[in-house]
Amino acid sequence: MTVRTRFAPSPTGRLHLGNVRTAIFNWLFARHHGGAFILRIEDTDLERNLPGAEAGLIEDLRWLGLEWEEGPDVGGPFGPYRQSERGEIHSAHARRLLDRGRAYPCFCTGEESMGEDRRYTGACRDLDRATTRARVDRGEPHLLRLMTPREGVIEVKDEVRGTITFPAKDIDDFVILRADGRATYNFGVVVDDMLMKISHVIRGAGHLSNTPKQVLIWGAFEAPLPCFAHLPDVLAPDGGKLSKRSGAAAVAELRAEGALPQAIVNYLSLLGWSHPEEREILSVDELADAVDLDRVGAADTAFDPEKMRWVGQQQMGALPDPVYFEKARHELQRMGMAGDLVDPLAELLRSRLATFGEIAGHLAFVKRSDEELRDALARGLADEKITADPGPLFAATASHLRDAPEWGPEAVRAAIGGAGHDLGIRGREVYIPLRLAWTGETHGPDLAVLVSALGRSEALRRLGAHDG
Ligand code: GLU
Repeated sequence: MTVRTRFAPSPTGRLHLGNVRTAIFNWLFARHHGGAFILRIEDTDLERNLPGAEAGLIEDLRWLGLEWEEGPDVGGPFGPYRQSERGEIHSAHARRLLDRGRAYPCFCTGEESMGEDRRYTGACRDLDRATTRARVDRGEPHLLRLMTPREGVIEVKDEVRGTITFPAKDIDDFVILRADGRATYNFGVVVDDMLMKISHVIRGAGHLSNTPKQVLIWGAFEAPLPCFAHLPDVLAPDGGKLSKRSGAAAVAELRAEGALPQAIVNYLSLLGWSHPEEREILSVDELADAVDLDRVGAADTAFDPEKMRWVGQQQMGALPDPVYFEKARHELQRMGMAGDLVDPLAELLRSRLATFGEIAGHLAFVKRSDEELRDALARGLADEKITADPGPLFAATASHLRDAPEWGPEAVRAAIGGAGHDLGIRGREVYIPLRLAWTGETHGPDLAVLVSALGRSEALRRLGAHDG
């Protein structure tokens, strides 16, 4: 069997962590099996479509590296399939079911045709074919309903959940084609999946309830069913619904923060799936080698922002040096860092970064106001129970700094060492007051490299000294 998967987003907003997981899984699964991955924009609900959303989806998918290898030829990379461009195909297929007696026209207009449970009562189901044909030919408005079984069960075989049965009586003769000729949601999905020869319908658990209806439509076409796999839901860290507030950031936001696409792919692939050897940090190629349906669990999973950060840090560490340095330099230069300083800072921060955007946070101290620094110093010394007056330490350090022949981390390191030596103090007694005075923090990466980013006169000024 040729594996063919699809991602079928509706253009109602940007991709966020919850829905892009489905795209990632479909893409990895197709690659794992040497198959094809298709993008289909489900844009038939005109009222919900958001202008620009399709372009946003495409940008996000491309940035993540989730390319599709098939679609309308638009010159250059393939375009996506759009359901809205397939209206005639859908209606022709609905008519085919009508001809085969698997669907019937329904002329009911009002509420009287709906039972108390809002299910269609089937008044038109039993009209004889000659009558309905005549009414259709006369141009009487009608929609098309699928002839569904009234008894028994509908079986959905799910690769993740096993076989699930739905009582047939719970599903009425639902509409497949509206009176205006437009396909309904489930019908459009099935016709497209069928014509696009989708072998595996992999999607979120929320779609499980649509599946019995879709199975009936496949059956009406007498087409072999695809494999269905409903991935577990991704919940918020507190077990609630994953929302923007609970951390379901949009892919575009993560991109703007300088996240690594491979880290997002890596982290999200671990939600509901696990590596056979329980490895967690995997390159995209390793994921494509390993990801398969047999290790997907049905239990809900929770989004864990800390774990995502951790995966981001590991992936940052795994970047080839030239790639890391190019991006980090760019970010540092954007923040006004220049010359010999840039590479040591890039090196210093590397192990702490989950995204390039975090560089700004680590360098926020450069712009900290005197008042903030003063407050931080007082609070920090109290918290750390350091009672000695830091004045002499600052003066001694300033004096060494002023004498240093060349500015840079070495000069700062030597000045700190020299001041400690002069005053006979060591370790935290030296480092904590100085770090507080210079950065407003009690802990952080190598102080000498950080301080060199301030420049000599600012470093002296923060010690209450002046550039002699
Ligand atoms: N258009 C649906 C959605 O955005 C997906 C349909 C499907 O995967 O079958 O959730």
